[in-house]
Amino acid sequence: MLGQMMTAPLTISSLVDHAARYHGDTEIVSVQTAGGVETTSWRDVGANAHRLGDALTKLGLEPQARCGTIAWNNRRHLEIYFGVSGAGFVCHTINPRLFPEQLVYIINHADDQVLFIDKTFVPLIAAIRDKCPNLKYIVLMEGHDDEAAAAIEGLQFYDDLIATGDADFAWPDLDENTASSLCYTSGTTGNPKGVLYSHRSTVLHSLVAALPDSLDLSATKRVLPVVPMFHVNAWGTPYACAMTGASMVLPGPGLDGASLVKLIDSYKVSVALGVPTIWLGLVNEALKSGSKLETLERTVIGGSACPPSMITAFRENFGVETIHAWGMTEMSPLGSVNQLLAKHDQLSDEARYKMRENQGRPPFGVELKIVDEEGKTLPNDGKTQGDLHVRGHWILDSYFRKSTEETLTNGWFDTGDVATLDADGYLSIKDRSKDIIKSGGEWISSVDLENIAIAHPKLADAAVIGARHEKWDERPVLVAVKAEGQDPSEAEILAIFEDKIAKWQIPDRVVFTDVLPRNATGKVLKRNLREEFGEVLMG
Ligand code: AMP
Repeated sequence: MLGQMMTAPLTISSLVDHAARYHGDTEIVSVQTAGGVETTSWRDVGANAHRLGDALTKLGLEPQARCGTIAWNNRRHLEIYFGVSGAGFVCHTINPRLFPEQLVYIINHADDQVLFIDKTFVPLIAAIRDKCPNLKYIVLMEGHDDEAAAAIEGLQFYDDLIATGDADFAWPDLDENTASSLCYTSGTTGNPKGVLYSHRSTVLHSLVAALPDSLDLSATKRVLPVVPMFHVNAWGTPYACAMTGASMVLPGPGLDGASLVKLIDSYKVSVALGVPTIWLGLVNEALKSGSKLETLERTVIGGSACPPSMITAFRENFGVETIHAWGMTEMSPLGSVNQLLAKHDQLSDEARYKMRENQGRPPFGVELKIVDEEGKTLPNDGKTQGDLHVRGHWILDSYFRKSTEETLTNGWFDTGDVATLDADGYLSIKDRSKDIIKSGGEWISSVDLENIAIAHPKLADAAVIGARHEKWDERPVLVAVKAEGQDPSEAEILAIFEDKIAKWQIPDRVVFTDVLPRNATGKVLKRNLREEFGEVLMG
C-alpha cells in the first residue's frame, strides 16, 4: 500500500518562488563589481530569475544545456543560480583562480553553451575565447558596456538579456533527479573532475543545512557567504537562505579584512561563512580598527582545518561563536558540523571549548565510516585513524562523464581524508591521506602540528610536510611565514610545541618562506612544498 500524500518534485525553482512569495521584502545586499552597494529583495531576485529562465529558453538551448558562470558573489549571480536551474538548464560555476588551460579544459569538458562573466574576467575570457568553440553566448553581468563589447566579439549584456524575458514565465515541469548544477573539484593532481548535482540533492541538502544543529538559518538571520559562489555553490547558502527566507549580504570582489568588517558592521550581518585564511584577515582588521563585530553571532569555518586559536580569537575578542564544518565538492558540500549534544552541558567551559575544535558530527543524510587499507571498518573510538568513506543523499554517485565503478568503493565514496571518529560520530580530520607524515611506522598528523604552530604570535602562516629522512623515512618539517615585522628564530618557534604533543612528533626543522603556495580554493599545495623542502633533512 502506498501512502496517500501529495508529492511534488523537489526543485530549485520552488526555493526561489517560496522566498519571493513569503519573504519578498527581505533584503539582498550586493556589492557591485564596479564598486558601490545595491540593495534588492527576494521578490526582485525571484522575478529576475523567471525573466532569465524565459530569456534562455527563447535562445533555444537544449534541456540541461550547461550555462557557465565566472563571477563574484553578487545578486546577478544569485539570479543566475535560480533562473538557469529553474528553467531546466545546468548552472556551472567556474573558479576564476584556475589556470587558463584548466578553465579551457573545464568549459569544453562541461560543453558550456553560455558563459556569464563579471567585468573583472573580460580579459581572461577574451584570451581563451577561441579555444572554447562550443560557447555560443558570452554574457557580461551588467548593463551595456562599450569597453567590454570591444574586447569580446558578440558579447551580450545581462540586463538586456533578461529584459527579453517575462517575470511570469512558468518553470518547466522537471523530474527532481534532473541535473541542476555542476562544479569541478580544484584538483591538485590531474584534470579537475565535475560533480553534477540534482534538484533533489540540492533541496535535501538545503533542508538539512538550515537545521539548528547545522548552520541554524532562519528568516531572522542576515547571512554573509564569503565562501565564493564558485566554490561548491557557496556551501549551498543561496538555496538554504531562499528556503528559510534569510537575508543575504553578497560581498562582491573585495574579500580583504577591511571590506568585510565594513560590510558586517554596515549591514548588520549575523552569520558569516568562509575558509580560515579569510578570517585571519578579518580578525586582524577588526582588532586594528576597534570594531566589535557587534551584530555577528556566528562564523561557519570550513574548507581547511580551522585552527583552535581562531575559534578562541573570535570568542574572546568579539563574543562570536565559531562553527567548524567539514565537507567536499563531492558532498554538496556538507558532511559534518560541530554542534554539541545535550550531555555536553555538564562539561566545564574549557572541556566544551575543546569539544568545539574538531570537525563535528554528520547530520541526518550523511553516513561516515573509517576503514583500513583492506577496506575493513575500524572502531569509532576517537583514537583509531583510517581512510574516511562517506555516503548519503547529497553525495555524488559518479563524477560527470565517469561511471559509478570509477568513483565509488562498495557504494561508498573515499574522501581521501584520514580521520578518527568517536562513538557519537564526532569527526577529527588528521590529514589528506597523501599528506600524512609516516615516521618510523607511526603516523603524524600535519593538521595537529599546523594548529599549534599557527597560534604562534610571530607567525603569519604555517604548513607541515613530511620531509625525507634516512632513518625514519619521513620526519615533519614546519614551513613557516613570519608575521609582519617579526624575525623569530627556529628555536623560538619550536618551543611552542613543548608540552602540547609527544616529543617525537615535534618537527625536526623550521624553514621560513615568504608565502605558502595555495590552490584555487585556498588550500596549501603541499606537493609544491615537498618539492621545495622535502630533502632538507637529507645529508
Ligand atoms: P573541496 O572539495 O575543495 O571543498 O575540498 C574538500 C577537502 O577539503 C576535504 O576532503 C578536506 O581535505 C578539506 N577540508 C574541508 N573542510 C575541512 C575542515 N573543516 N577541516 C579539515 N579539512 C577540511
